[in-house]
Amino acid sequence: MRLYDTKARSVVEIVPVRPGQLSIYACGPTVYRDAHVGNMRSFLLPDLICRVAQSQGLTTHLVQNITDVGHMADDTGLGGVDEGQADTEDRILAQAGLEGRGALELARGYEARFHEDLAALNIRPAQAYPRASESIPLMIDLIQVLLDRGHAYVGSDGSVFFDATSVADYGALSGNRLEDLRPGHRFTAEMDSAKRFHADWALWKHAGDSRTQLVWETPWGRGYPGWHTECSAMSLDQFGSSIDVHTGGIDLRFPHHEDERAQSNAASAGSVAGGSAEVVQHWVHGEHLLFAGRKMSKSTGNVVLVRDLVDRGLDPLSLRLAFLQHRYRQQFNLTWEVLQTADGQLRRWRERVAEWAEAPSAPIPADLQAAFELPCQEDLDTPRALQLLREAERIEDLADGAKFEFFAWADQILGLDLVRDVGKAPQPVPESVQRLMEERAQARLDKLWARSDELRDAMAELGWQVRDTPEGQQVTPTR
Ligand SMILES: [Zn+2]
Repeated sequence: MRLYDTKARSVVEIVPVRPGQLSIYACGPTVYRDAHVGNMRSFLLPDLICRVAQSQGLTTHLVQNITDVGHMADDTGLGGVDEGQADTEDRILAQAGLEGRGALELARGYEARFHEDLAALNIRPAQAYPRASESIPLMIDLIQVLLDRGHAYVGSDGSVFFDATSVADYGALSGNRLEDLRPGHRFTAEMDSAKRFHADWALWKHAGDSRTQLVWETPWGRGYPGWHTECSAMSLDQFGSSIDVHTGGIDLRFPHHEDERAQSNAASAGSVAGGSAEVVQHWVHGEHLLFAGRKMSKSTGNVVLVRDLVDRGLDPLSLRLAFLQHRYRQQFNLTWEVLQTADGQLRRWRERVAEWAEAPSAPIPADLQAAFELPCQEDLDTPRALQLLREAERIEDLADGAKFEFFAWADQILGLDLVRDVGKAPQPVPESVQRLMEERAQARLDKLWARSDELRDAMAELGWQVRDTPEGQQVTPTR
């Protein structure tokens, strides 16, 4: 499989460090609210990588963290602060205050909803979902190693900072150079004065007395972890000093992943026999999703959730299909129309697959199978793979039984539940549609083609699609 590697800035061959087993660490949700469909696009990426790797005979080990502490309102460095929040406020605590709930109660509630959303999109569960709040001892150990190795220092406010100048190639991932990084709005005056250099970041934050939840005692006093610390601590704990693929949304490239890379490399270099100085072999990022032409955010009021699709009567897998119709690293503009079209396509495919399932099974032609695998393995070119499905559907001399086998096999990667309707009793054709069919059959006998087309449109309005076959008209429901 080949993927676009953000650091190499090119599409590269992915070769697991442990032969036969691909390790993947995916940045997970900050569980202070429901994940919106843009977040879901990021969470689909590791699932696709796993499915393609598995189709090539690899086993996959996926770990996705749950951020339930330490993610400040503006840790992205890109703004995106929700209204009413100070940029130095912990997202979990701020929302817990708004909802009048305990911080961990709030976090567990949204974590459960995150898993429901994954299931609705056929995103297979990771092997582990470590929680930041339960990984504090790992973070303390990591910070101690970084202090011992001279990569970190205790600032004047009691916080522990990573020394950005202590790593030679800081910025290799994002392209940001230290000398170009200027103090920005995300650094508070207080924190700026506590650290030596404006680009240093807090590994551990000293807590004031007002913070009563999500605080821990450490050798450096009472406090809480910086957001980037958790991903280094948990990924090193889960995988040791080598991770094949690390995924996340493109907005995590800087500072989150740049800082995580610096921490992980600094903590593990030379510490494990055979370990490489580069912990993460490949960083893979998914592009932004726009909805109706705008970035999704609470302040613009266009946040769309998986449950909003369900409320509109759409299959949540129409979202998955809409995602697959675009490359993961291509920005695209999702709209309700796109989702409705995808929903119709899914239904049509499932009906066809159910029809083909009635035919005797036939093998998938090897060239068709290879033609589908190729784009999947070439940087997840899912639009091309879907195009092949449409082409296969139209191949006249491909037996129905082979079409069934092909769609069922391809769906192991696509995850669209294309075989869902197999064995289901067909929907009875209502009398109104039957009458139109009879009228249309007569119109065709009389060669009244315009009338025939009118009747076809009338049937479409009633939700039935008609096809003319050697056995006569066949109708299938479109909704
Ligand atoms: Zn992360």
